Amino acid sequence: MATLRNCIRCGKLFSPISSSTKLCFDCDREDQEQFNKVKEYLKEHSTATVIEITKATGVERKQIYEWVKSGRLDVAHVLDLGLTCESCGKPIKSGRFCIECAARIESDARKVLAESKPTAAKKEKDRKAAFHVADAIRRRRGD
Ligand SMILES: [Zn+2]
Ligand SMILES: [Zn+2]
Repeated sequence: MATLRNCIRCGKLFSPISSSTKLCFDCDREDQEQFNKVKEYLKEHSTATVIEITKATGVERKQIYEWVKSGRLDVAHVLDLGLTCESCGKPIKSGRFCIECAARIESDARKVLAESKPTAAKKEKDRKAAFHVADAIRRRRGD
């Protein structure tokens, strides 16, 4: 007997057809219907905005994002998709960061990498210094 699972959309228990099945039968059918509706709409209205899509199909903006994020729906041409940079919140068309933030994050990462070497050398120096102090104390005690 297959193990039951909670539908990620409605929370209902159902027996999944495969391990990748995350929606119950009803939600899966609804999801597929909504997806087809959006796809069909985009075929005829290739320059539609997200607002137009949600109005025409009744599909929630959030749902459309999910399809885009999972790569199921390709709407790179939709300008007001509402994807925003995770760092500064600026509207972007794809990915997680805007060009500026992506460049800044990359240079920050490089800086951290460059700084990590002197830091390691400094730690070694500190460790040696501490050792000398301990050694001096030991010697003094020995007197
Ligand atoms: Zn469900
Ligand atoms: Zn940004």
